[in-house]
Amino acid sequence: MLGHRAGGQGLNAPFGTGCLYTNPTAMADRKLLTGISSDAFVSDADRWALEKLQKVPLLPLVMRKFYEVGFDRWFYVMNMSMSVRCGPNQYPTLHRILKESCAVLDMPEPELYITNNPFPNAFAGGVERPYITLRSGIVDNLSDEQLYHLIGHELGHIKANHVLYFSVGAVLFALLDLLGKRTLGTTDVASYALVLAYYEWSRQAEFSADRAGLLVSQSLTTSLDSQISLTAGPSRLRHEQNREAFMDQARAYQDADTLDQIGKAVLFMMYGKTFTHPMPVHRAQELERWYLTGAYERIMNGDYARLAQAA
Ligand SMILES: [Zn+2]
Repeated sequence: MLGHRAGGQGLNAPFGTGCLYTNPTAMADRKLLTGISSDAFVSDADRWALEKLQKVPLLPLVMRKFYEVGFDRWFYVMNMSMSVRCGPNQYPTLHRILKESCAVLDMPEPELYITNNPFPNAFAGGVERPYITLRSGIVDNLSDEQLYHLIGHELGHIKANHVLYFSVGAVLFALLDLLGKRTLGTTDVASYALVLAYYEWSRQAEFSADRAGLLVSQSLTTSLDSQISLTAGPSRLRHEQNREAFMDQARAYQDADTLDQIGKAVLFMMYGKTFTHPMPVHRAQELERWYLTGAYERIMNGDYARLAQAA
């Protein structure tokens, strides 16, 4: 069904249906990925970018300050004061999706919150006490099936230990201020290197989390549709969405000569940081690419990196 295959592999019907875009997976049919480790879905680029970030000389100082000030606790309390905690008797649909998604990724249940905000977004927080917060706008935008992808994505961030660096990143400038290392406008090379390394890593971390979203939705169709819904917006016109056209658009973006890799990184830094889930068009293509490598199919067949104790 696709005119273009990643890497020219020409993969033929990896799931035997001859079509990439199939119907959503019912929960009863979802595979539980017992003992799965985040190594199964964390991309090499994510790992390398994190290693690079961890080598930035200023990072240990910034991390120490993060803990010293107690930002993690502040974030937790602030989130709790502004959101409704979901449970079996409070938005049980959302809680059930969380529970089932955790079962798929074989991980403990983080706390789940919903908060009234029309700008569609979601985030994972809490280094010591992980939680996921969904804004009302995103729940209104997505179907229940698509929420499996979204919650799987956030669980991926938690499972891959992205939350620590995301939390530090959220207050990076404040931390640099506290340390007297405020960048942008100064010539503090150390701060600039840290900010650059952070944004590059956080971009890569999104690709890894999208893979986790797919592992939970267990339907490329659902995962890509959730990206379209988030990018476009109106659930009222969801029936008019065109997945093939969206993926063509994603490929055109990827192939755009005028927007080279550096340009994309710069734009991400300028605009992407205002969203916790930036560059959805690009990410949809990256996710499809990963799927076409056969990695997803191997995981579904039980061939995946496992946690040490589960090996
Ligand atoms: Zn994310």
